[in-house]
Amino acid sequence: MQRPPVGVARTAVLIAAARANEQRHLRRLFTDPLAAGLVEAAGSANDLNGVRTLAGDHFVLRTRYFDDQLLSSAQPQVVIMAAGLDTRAFRLQWPPGTTLFELDLPDMVEFKEDALHDLQARPHCERVVVPCDLREDWPTALIQAGFDPKRPTAWLLEGLFMFLPPDAGDRILYWVSALSTRGSTLALEHVNREFRELPQMRPVHDRFDTLDARWQSDVEDPVEWLAGHGWHATVTHQVDLAAQHDRAVPAITDPRKVGDARIWLASAIHTV
Ligand code: SAM
Repeated sequence: MQRPPVGVARTAVLIAAARANEQRHLRRLFTDPLAAGLVEAAGSANDLNGVRTLAGDHFVLRTRYFDDQLLSSAQPQVVIMAAGLDTRAFRLQWPPGTTLFELDLPDMVEFKEDALHDLQARPHCERVVVPCDLREDWPTALIQAGFDPKRPTAWLLEGLFMFLPPDAGDRILYWVSALSTRGSTLALEHVNREFRELPQMRPVHDRFDTLDARWQSDVEDPVEWLAGHGWHATVTHQVDLAAQHDRAVPAITDPRKVGDARIWLASAIHTV
């Protein structure tokens, strides 16, 4: 068995723990039969319980939001950037012929492949893993793994940008756009500066600092940021998302409690 995730990769265990916990909900937002086994293999995420409590239902609402975006875009290629312990290849019903690429740091990919093998997981699509550092030349690694820039693609960037310096995030968006045909789709999560600076977030930053997983960037207007790269984007507010799924708005995203602080959930279509 490979070494359990360390450093920034441990944040993926936190999200998987939230998805595992959701399976106990009577009206769960999605089914993820692998999450609990992956968390167990990683040695639990109890040290990050405080972060999960603060997030409330945010992680599971965002999971459902991105599930819906990816399935409705129905592209022949799907690229999940910083996939962590994401199990969408195994738990969503993909159209026949879908190829799904998962990118993450090499140690993380190795650990996950080992754990999935032990759990006897079988994907519902052609699944290709691409170990790489997204601050380096990941486009070459992705193309060498079989990605075809001429085919329309659905990109997912969930729980990634805030961990990267602004220039690295910009470079990723540049390359995602350069590798996207017209009609490709993209879904992302990011935060604004007010969110990063919320007093409630201080213990989270302190905890993440111990993992060497400091938040390093934010974006004031994701629609404008994406438009600059040829994307037409729509932002969904957690108030609407929670109402749509009959859940309470997570306090950390409730404007009555956090004002203009935002965790952005955006989806976009490439128009050039
Ligand atoms: N997207 C997954 C999810 O929502 O379950 C995982 C999100 S987790 C918060 C952050 C992920 O980003 C981790 O899996 C970590 O390994 C990955 N990551 C952080 N920096 C990275 C980098 N420079 N290159 C590749 N992956 C990175």
